[in-house]
Amino acid sequence: MLATHPDVSTIGERRKFYNKSLVPDQGPAQNCSCGKRFVDCEHWNAIKERFLKRVKPGDLRTNLTEFQFSTNRYWNRLGKEAYQWSRRWGLPTAWHLYPSKLRRLRELNQILVEEMLDLEAKNVFVDSSKIIDQAWYLSEIEAFDFYVVWLVRDPRAQVSSALKYNAWDVAEATRRWKREMEKNRQILERAGMRYHTLRYEALCREPREEMVQLLNFVGMDTAKFSLNFRSTTQHIMGNRSMRRGTDTKIVERRDWLDRLSREQIETIEKLTVDYRQYYTI
Ligand SMILES: [Zn+2]
Repeated sequence: MLATHPDVSTIGERRKFYNKSLVPDQGPAQNCSCGKRFVDCEHWNAIKERFLKRVKPGDLRTNLTEFQFSTNRYWNRLGKEAYQWSRRWGLPTAWHLYPSKLRRLRELNQILVEEMLDLEAKNVFVDSSKIIDQAWYLSEIEAFDFYVVWLVRDPRAQVSSALKYNAWDVAEATRRWKREMEKNRQILERAGMRYHTLRYEALCREPREEMVQLLNFVGMDTAKFSLNFRSTTQHIMGNRSMRRGTDTKIVERRDWLDRLSREQIETIEKLTVDYRQYYTI
């Protein structure tokens, strides 16, 4: 939806650009929202070409849009842990396992964003990468005026969704949801990031009001925004069927009401008494 604002440039999840375009992997074929494969999309290729002109071949050795420190997965894991640990305790950069690599990864992601904005003559870049660690890395790029949108949803809906993809029971899925919420909050607050909490259900019910609040938070021109978010051709990674629809309505998914039993809902509610502000009904 933010992408319909004329000042905004986006490709969806920036962190996947390396695997989908720079060094295409052999993963399941996915198409850009324009309908072409990413490797055939002119827009993505134009960004790729501009980016490659500004970097050294060695920069492509690790997955730079994921902030991958090492191609060895154990060292990479250790690098991430050391990074998180040093950030959590406010230790200087010298404590990071890969201080110079981290600096370079920041520069490379800055270059990528600069090239996208320049190509489209825009000044706001939206990244829909969902993992909080990515916000941590990007927030350290001094050239960016950085804001986080924290999208939250009713815990019962979140747990119902988690059960579809994982072999957890309801209590386990609820505990994980709580852990995730606390981790996100701690990182956002300790790192002093400017963030705006957006409720999924509120966005579905009152999209215009919610979007205006969000644009005001970032200091963007609300008059330029339109809800006609399916009218323009975009080159985005993500939910294609939604983007290729033709109306301007957003349907709130409430399938959790049918998917969860009465007992399951009670279990979640018992475990989330401190999170009632996220309940929608
Ligand atoms: Zn495309």
